[in-house]
Amino acid sequence: MKLFDLHCDTIGECYKNKVSLRRNGLNVSLEKSKVFSEYAQVFAIWIPNELRKEKAINYFNKVCDYFDDEISKNKDLIVKFDSAKKDDKRNKAILAVEGGAVLGGNIDEIYNVYDRGVRVMTLTWNAENEIASGAFCENGGLTDFGKSVLRRMEKLKMVVDVSHLNRQSFFDVAEATTNPFIASHSNPDIVSNEFGRKRNLTDEQIEIIKERNGLIGLNFCKDFFNVNDKSGLDALKVHLDYLLNKNCEKIIAIGGDFDGCDLTEGISGLESMEFVYNSLITDGFSKSLIDDIFYNNANNFFQKMIT
Ligand SMILES: [Zn+2]
Repeated sequence: MKLFDLHCDTIGECYKNKVSLRRNGLNVSLEKSKVFSEYAQVFAIWIPNELRKEKAINYFNKVCDYFDDEISKNKDLIVKFDSAKKDDKRNKAILAVEGGAVLGGNIDEIYNVYDRGVRVMTLTWNAENEIASGAFCENGGLTDFGKSVLRRMEKLKMVVDVSHLNRQSFFDVAEATTNPFIASHSNPDIVSNEFGRKRNLTDEQIEIIKERNGLIGLNFCKDFFNVNDKSGLDALKVHLDYLLNKNCEKIIAIGGDFDGCDLTEGISGLESMEFVYNSLITDGFSKSLIDDIFYNNANNFFQKMIT
């Protein structure tokens, strides 16, 4: 089976614990990925709320150095997605930054971030920053600075990620750009946890992402995922049925949130994905649909958007 995962926090954890991407005790490692015939992973560098301005930029650069080092040490197994040749079967890495605070409020900083390899930017984490307001914020939307960031991102072919935005920021982004955008790690807002509902997507938001031919990466964080008394595979089926009823089969993807949260029961990292994949097919989902969700939808999107 193939896997394309739209969001993990693994590289920040590798940096913090000084462990390698190849072999570690985390949810994601290159060793664990050997079970996949093809594997692409968006690696996000998460910018904590307390890091702003210079501190955010410095932290990003340090984790990015670590990422580059790991990619080069493991080049037998992994290559950057946008520099891989067509028949290259190695794992593919896409670098993302989770938090537009990385720009420190300076529009030209985006060139540094792009040159360092970032191809996806999650505009906020849960708090506000210079670009927009996150899911913790009752008020506030996309700022004028945020609008100019979106224009620069379009020119650079950097993908906009709306996961973590509050509702107002989401709708402002939808108005300010005509490009497809992604919610890399968000579910429908049908979950039990109250903050989880805020952090997830309403029907209206799902509809907009679909109209734009974007992507919705299903997040396995238990607070954003568990529905009533259902967790793991059972909750996944609820989310899939919900989105499939809305004809979202070409925009559903996986955005596991590995190494960034408490996962739902029965999913512990990359090692769980083969079981999940096989179980869904056994339970009657068609193989071609599950292949689209686990790999093809995201691969088609990123081939079109960043290569
Ligand atoms: Zn996140």
